[in-house]
Amino acid sequence: MRYPKIREVGEAVVSLFSPAYTTKFPKKPHTPSENYRGKPVVDNEHCVGCETCTNVCPSGVIKFTDNKEKKIRKIERNYGLCIFCGQCQEHCITGKGIKLSDTIYDLATFNRKELIETQEKELLICQSCGAVITTKEHMVYLHKKLGSIAYSSILNLNILNEKLKLAQQKDVQVEVVDGLKRKDMFNIICPNCLRKVLVKIFD
Ligand code: SF4
Ligand code: SF4
Repeated sequence: MRYPKIREVGEAVVSLFSPAYTTKFPKKPHTPSENYRGKPVVDNEHCVGCETCTNVCPSGVIKFTDNKEKKIRKIERNYGLCIFCGQCQEHCITGKGIKLSDTIYDLATFNRKELIETQEKELLICQSCGAVITTKEHMVYLHKKLGSIAYSSILNLNILNEKLKLAQQKDVQVEVVDGLKRKDMFNIICPNCLRKVLVKIFD
């Protein structure tokens, strides 16, 4: 039998009375360093539902589903798949729609459904072909960002018109029902239909 050396016994006695090197997490909360990349947190006021973050997310965390009948875009974020890369924050068009938290990082759970969060945004639908143009909040954001330049696009002008009710008349059929005509350029239509109207006019 080999006996421990005096030095090893000394080290054992010192470590017995020294504070622990490891933290007491999860009993005692851990304090992450500044700019730690924890759970992405959405600010619904500043998220316009534009779909940019879903295009840059490498893990397929963010899914968009459009319901044209109800004019609703559902955004589903499954943080169980998140790798905290920060791409969604980096590329968010408003710069404030999503931010990685440096205090929420412990996502361990027995129920993975708890890690799924959803949002809903109102959609802007083409009144001619029924295609999804974008969300209303996205369009409003673009208007604010571009200022008066936004109204060089007739679609934007029509949206403003609809908002302010400048050309509101009673008994006017707004929906395009009998094919695209010149007058339809003053309805809310998608860029494809608008192009068809303009080509028709100038043909
Ligand atoms: S941090 Fe990365 S993986 Fe997580 S939601 Fe954002 S882009 Fe996707
Ligand atoms: S990029 Fe930003 S504004 Fe667009 S959907 Fe994602 S979080 Fe919202």
